[in-house]
Amino acid sequence: MIRITSFAGRKVAVFGLGASGIATAKALVEGGADVVASDDNAAGVKAAAEAGLKTADLKDANWAIFSALVLAPGVPLTHPEPHWAVRAAKLAGVEVIGDLELFARERRLQSFDVPLICITGTNGKSTTTALTAHILKEAGRDTQVGGNIGTAMLLLEPFAPGRHYVIECSSYQIDLAPSIDASVGVLLNVTPDHLDRHGTIHNYAAVKAQLVYGADKAVVGIDDSYCRTIADKAVATKGAENVLRISAKPDAASDVGVDGAKVVLRRGGASEVIAELSGIGSLRGSHNAENACAASAALLSLPQPLAPAEIARCLKTFPGLAHRMEELGHAGRTLFVNDSKATNADSTEKALLSFPSNIFWILGGKPKSGGIAPLTQYFDRVAKAYLIGDATEEFAATLDGHVAFERCGTLEVATAAAARDAAAATGTSEPVVLLSPACASFDQFRNFEVRGDHFRALVKALAGIEMKRGG
Ligand code: ADP
Repeated sequence: MIRITSFAGRKVAVFGLGASGIATAKALVEGGADVVASDDNAAGVKAAAEAGLKTADLKDANWAIFSALVLAPGVPLTHPEPHWAVRAAKLAGVEVIGDLELFARERRLQSFDVPLICITGTNGKSTTTALTAHILKEAGRDTQVGGNIGTAMLLLEPFAPGRHYVIECSSYQIDLAPSIDASVGVLLNVTPDHLDRHGTIHNYAAVKAQLVYGADKAVVGIDDSYCRTIADKAVATKGAENVLRISAKPDAASDVGVDGAKVVLRRGGASEVIAELSGIGSLRGSHNAENACAASAALLSLPQPLAPAEIARCLKTFPGLAHRMEELGHAGRTLFVNDSKATNADSTEKALLSFPSNIFWILGGKPKSGGIAPLTQYFDRVAKAYLIGDATEEFAATLDGHVAFERCGTLEVATAAAARDAAAATGTSEPVVLLSPACASFDQFRNFEVRGDHFRALVKALAGIEMKRGG
């Protein structure tokens, strides 16, 4: 745990008692703060009390006694409207911050040599965070990884000289971290998302930009107009030498970009190959090329940068993240891929683009508006589709006349049918049984992880299967 000493001897309200809220409250207590934990939800209050924290209903509290309100990122700060606790704190002149701000202040207080890479973006945060941390670890650096992925950031190992932190940051966390000052701030991309919480796309982009502007070095995607503007401003304020612009588009004017399947660094008219991505199954597709460019650029931007050869070597062993284009294994020629995280057509588009043909596509669940109509242009890559869940009839109507399909109902039936057909497939490209549902999972599963785990178990039980990573 990272003890937060910046509020030692002072009273702090912590509101929002999920796992990260409880971790934050404990980190403050350990550092000597007098913490009162609160939540609208009785289960959260109970969990905090069981964890030994002092709890209270703060509706009628005298807020003037608090030095800060530390808010969980899930609690509305500004939109659709500020939560009552935020209003009460602001009225009393109490600052409202989150765990990322506490982390940043403590890092400054302890003033160790602690390189901090913070990663944000609408898409690709988890993959880029995991990839960056993987490369650092493989290169032998002392590395901690967490934040919006895996371990809550204040539960990571304490600061120590030379220890690297790779932190995935959601826009909500950045919104609560006014003084965030990473060694390297990475912004991958900005597309409309979470507008219910940020009001407008401009507010949302401005929040993400804080991470870049506050950092010593910036890595910014330039494949969307919001990020291009942010990159230009970063160059103007920090100097071009402190900003690496990244892109997955071959013809973009990026500093770290792609040339075929290679990640290249372009500086002063010259171009240096950093890494080769072909053959790395966990990094298929141009979206993952963007993630690989971002991770490489971040590691080249560290106070003690990694050498390109080290980045190239360590990229090769990236196992990928579960449920995101996860290669489960082979049965004969057939590759099985779990992309259960693809809960909308946008994400499934990335999966279909990653394989040229011979795709045996399992899809369906609780459909999103627009369904799979945006994917029509990729239907020629699909050998056959296997429909499950509530979306069956809607998707059947879209596929009809373009792609052979089967109504399977359940994932069990679909997996068996797709495996059977893929085993009999002809053609030069490797047959792929791909679970990329383009749907939420809630009609049949608790969440996308449970759906993906179920698929993994079904694949593991197939005859002749050889699982990766021990399955
Ligand atoms: P996040 O943590 O931002 O949700 P993930 O790394 O978990 O992102 O990836 C989630 C999904 O987003 C992937 O399955 C893929 O479909 C898509 N994706 C990943 N990286 C990118 C990217 N750089 N640009 C666009 N989409 C991406």
